[in-house]
Amino acid sequence: MDKLLYEKCQEEITRCNRLYDGFSNASPFISAICSAACEYFKEHPLTPLPAYDQGEAEDLIRAGRSLTLNPPLKAKEVVGLLKSFGKATVKANPKLKATVKEINEYLDQFLLDSQEEVSRKDVFNLQDLLIKETELEEDLATFLFSFLLYSFYRQYLQPTSEVLRTDLWEGGDCPLCGEKPHYGLLRSEDGAKQLECWACGTQWLHTRIKCPYCDNTDMEKLGYFTVEDNEKVRVNYCQKCCQYYKIFDVRKFHADGDVVLTIHNLASLDYDLLARREGFTPGSCLEWVNKDEIVEAQD
Ligand SMILES: [Zn+2]
Ligand SMILES: [Zn+2]
Repeated sequence: MDKLLYEKCQEEITRCNRLYDGFSNASPFISAICSAACEYFKEHPLTPLPAYDQGEAEDLIRAGRSLTLNPPLKAKEVVGLLKSFGKATVKANPKLKATVKEINEYLDQFLLDSQEEVSRKDVFNLQDLLIKETELEEDLATFLFSFLLYSFYRQYLQPTSEVLRTDLWEGGDCPLCGEKPHYGLLRSEDGAKQLECWACGTQWLHTRIKCPYCDNTDMEKLGYFTVEDNEKVRVNYCQKCCQYYKIFDVRKFHADGDVVLTIHNLASLDYDLLARREGFTPGSCLEWVNKDEIVEAQD
């Protein structure tokens, strides 16, 4: 997370406070985590990775293959950033002090057990371990770990991101890092559907009537729902693979310029809950809802 992205995030939080009912309860915490990330990288600046060979990248994309860049992360930095998130968490919610202390012990152990560099998979394994062994709730873990990857990847992959021919990409997964998207938008100028990678921020156009996860194009099996008259957020679902993702209709925001979708996603997690209660699972595999919340509704 660099300073520019940090400022954009804070502006977006202010906008989302106006747009989404109830977000103002959660937004001070999200703002504090953004600040923690910004502070961390001020003290530990990252060097972006050199850009991927442009010709080679274009050949891959034309062949329908994602670059699936998976830059190794320094274990020390992963732990350092998570600990600074922990500090911000305790400040916002002192009740979590004991949990954060316990997490920090696992983080110290992770550092001892790891090589100097760790992969994305190692980071996901760490997340699973903390959910299993500590009181860390799944939804909070998803937020902290996805935000961690976003903070690193946005910076590391920036040079390749700038030269990537996303206009040639028709796939459902991210052309740059290979993750499956969790959200996207309808472009303000023409209403075209654009997906965005939650991990590296890459955006690409995607056929409107098509499931990004199973490539289903059967209109009968694809749909979306909104809540009451709130047309800003749509839950797009596929009845073939039973998965969902969220689409933000930017045309309804009266937003000029870029919107930071990662913040809109956090401001609309009640839609994830509704999708789960309708029986759909997140195609991104990002679990934004705790299991007991889903069960509650079925009783
Ligand atoms: Zn990506
Ligand atoms: Zn599908």
